[in-house]
Amino acid sequence: MAERKQQDGFATRAIHEGQAADPATGATITPVYQTVTYTQDALGENRGFEYSRTDNPTRRALEEALASLEGGRFGVAYGSGMAAIAGTMQLVHAGDHVVVADDLYGGSYRLFTRVLPHYGVRFSYVDATRPEEVAKAVEPATKMVWIETPTNPMLRLVDVAACAEIARKAGALCVVDNTFATPYLQNPLALGAHVAVHSTTKYIGGHSDVIGGAVVVDDEDSAETLRFTRNATGGIPGPWDAWLTLRGLKTLSLRMRQHQENAQRVAEFLGTRSEVAAVHYPGLPDHPGHELAARQMRGFGGMLTVDLVGGEPAARALCESTRLFSLGESLGGVESLIGYPWTMSHAAFPPEEKLRKGISEGSVRLSVGIEDADDLCADLGQALDRAGR
Ligand SMILES: *Cc1c(COP(=O)(O)O)cnc(C)c1O
Repeated sequence: MAERKQQDGFATRAIHEGQAADPATGATITPVYQTVTYTQDALGENRGFEYSRTDNPTRRALEEALASLEGGRFGVAYGSGMAAIAGTMQLVHAGDHVVVADDLYGGSYRLFTRVLPHYGVRFSYVDATRPEEVAKAVEPATKMVWIETPTNPMLRLVDVAACAEIARKAGALCVVDNTFATPYLQNPLALGAHVAVHSTTKYIGGHSDVIGGAVVVDDEDSAETLRFTRNATGGIPGPWDAWLTLRGLKTLSLRMRQHQENAQRVAEFLGTRSEVAAVHYPGLPDHPGHELAARQMRGFGGMLTVDLVGGEPAARALCESTRLFSLGESLGGVESLIGYPWTMSHAAFPPEEKLRKGISEGSVRLSVGIEDADDLCADLGQALDRAGR
């Protein structure tokens, strides 16, 4: 198994790593171990599993596959992306300080501003697209640097290697929320980061039918702390959810290739429309993060945001006029989604914060699915025609 990790490619590992035939029955596909407990052979003698909050074979298969794809030795799965993020924050303690990239998932912002300060953890928010701002914010008490890249919803790029180096020099951990990129396009640990966090709800699950999260680390002490605190606090995924996520994961490479091919087509199409003031997609050569993305990612992903000339009324009309893009929260599923960051994904941020991040009332976010690109462009075209009227 260890040998295979070295040699096999991403798609192979997504399908095989951690997923050997079931030792009990030979089942080719990892079974859903829908059990709370495991019958002990004798007092104090079990077959590696005792109680499913602590460990479960279906969940373990998912964890081994994810760890391999992220290039870390340890995967820890959680019941949601937010549980994974809350679990990661168990790596800091009262009195510790965290430097956070201010272009941040709304749920993380809520956790960091409204929950964790009660436990004595302090946060500073910086524009991490300029690593020197991260360095400036570091204090003696800084124990963690938290970044996301590409960011949501403006698709800005943060230099993972530069931030990880700043963290390392400060004796702090660098955490990357890698949800937007997925391990197919970006491996934070290989870039020097200490922790990769995922909402598997998005591209990894990929079918908008299961909520989940995961953390991958390479060092044993962090893995030990994450597992211990997850067992102590209980934020696990159930075996069915782990199984669905694992099934989604098997096709991650195929889906990501199509997502980004379609996103590139849609971005180029939208760039030709007079109703569109700006297209934010790292795959466009004039995107400010294009070169960094080309350096630290293996592709540009499936998310993009457009700013409309007509501002709020045009944005609202576009969101309500598409036929194939469903108006909804979330992203990363096979089906295309359209969203209005101002009142949806970024509702938790005050208006001046949103404007500072570049989110305007004319911004519309697209999660480009894997339908036929021609159909997606045609749908956006007809919706823009109608929104413009
Ligand atoms: C959705 C998301 C989360 C939270 O994940 P849930 O599974 O919804 O709890 C965290 N980070 C990013 C970047 C996300 O998109």
